[in-house]
Amino acid sequence: MDFETRAIHVGQEPDPATGAIITPIYQTSTFVQDAVGEHKGYDYSRVANPTRSALQTALASLESAEHGIAFSSGLGAVTTLMHLLSPGDRVVLIADVYGGVYRMTSQVYEPKGYRFDYLPAEEFAHLGRHLDETTRMVWIESPSNPLLNVVDIAAAAEAAHAAGALLVVDNTFATPYLQRPLELGADVVVHSTTKYLGGHSDVVGGFVATSDPTIADRLYFLQKSLGAVPGPFDSWLVLRGLKTLALRMRKHCENAGAIAAVLSRHPRVERVFYPGLPTHPGHEIAARQMRDFGGMVSFLASSPEEAAALVARTKLFRLAESLGGVESLIEVPARMTHASTADAPFAAPPSLVRLSVGIESAEDLAADLEDALVPAAASA
Ligand code: PLP
Repeated sequence: MDFETRAIHVGQEPDPATGAIITPIYQTSTFVQDAVGEHKGYDYSRVANPTRSALQTALASLESAEHGIAFSSGLGAVTTLMHLLSPGDRVVLIADVYGGVYRMTSQVYEPKGYRFDYLPAEEFAHLGRHLDETTRMVWIESPSNPLLNVVDIAAAAEAAHAAGALLVVDNTFATPYLQRPLELGADVVVHSTTKYLGGHSDVVGGFVATSDPTIADRLYFLQKSLGAVPGPFDSWLVLRGLKTLALRMRKHCENAGAIAAVLSRHPRVERVFYPGLPTHPGHEIAARQMRDFGGMVSFLASSPEEAAALVARTKLFRLAESLGGVESLIEVPARMTHASTADAPFAAPPSLVRLSVGIESAEDLAADLEDALVPAAASA
């Protein structure tokens, strides 16, 4: 079955009890047993819940994974993955990793003796040189948040495996519609389902996909033992989002490409970061490993002050954190989503503006940005 068909049908058979075509929200904490230990596969909703099971089956299928494990947030998924490690283990991460992940590695796990090194995207061409026998994990985002850096996933998997490390790919920006890291050799995929997978800015969630049975068994154990599970309604919202993922991603990509082109020609824009631009250093790799280039665009305004001023001037692009919803958002990473990287080896440039390009009319979005870049007083 093709991706679009699986998104709508896998794990989502009509409800056996009633025939309801949509998977019900099993809003229950517990399940009645016929006799001690005799139940229909469910005993307690932290351990398993039918709505969550449907989401796990559907999204695992979209990532070409044997196993899917859902969490209460993207960071809940990341925390659980960190529990695959022990103090003393080393992790090599892409330097411009999401600020919340950096806050966790630097302020929660580093003080406990876990070791993290942050590698600029360019250095991934020589990843092997940076790995040693204590490296348990390589952690990348591709495209990355917020600079849209692209890493060759197949090459990173080869280098990680040669050093005896796992490759974890945060696929939040690309989604499985555009890129499937497990097919390229990655061991684990992690998502903030809060973003494109939910798709409507109405739910916070996370997900991990893997085809490695040992990792999966441990993660199912950690899911119930650490307890960062999504509720039935949140699981249902993400499941509903998946049904339109392909359609939405096509429009996100089309709009983002148009906006990146407009910004590239604009005299008040210093530099545009979008993997779809032929000038982007990761363009060729992205063209090889992604179906299209995604809905996120970042650019450098003329100064930090101008960045802060222009994000308050757009009308359709709403000033807010997060991304991946149908509506367009704008933000200054250095002061918002990536504020916790201020003292990091990588700090988001203060003039950087990040756009989550929604699925409105591309013309309306371009006009909104052009009006904000050249306010009426300045153009007079
Ligand atoms: N990974 C990426 C790339 C993100 O952008 C985010 C959130 O912005 C996360 C992980 C964390 O996800 P959540 O906010 O759902 O905890």
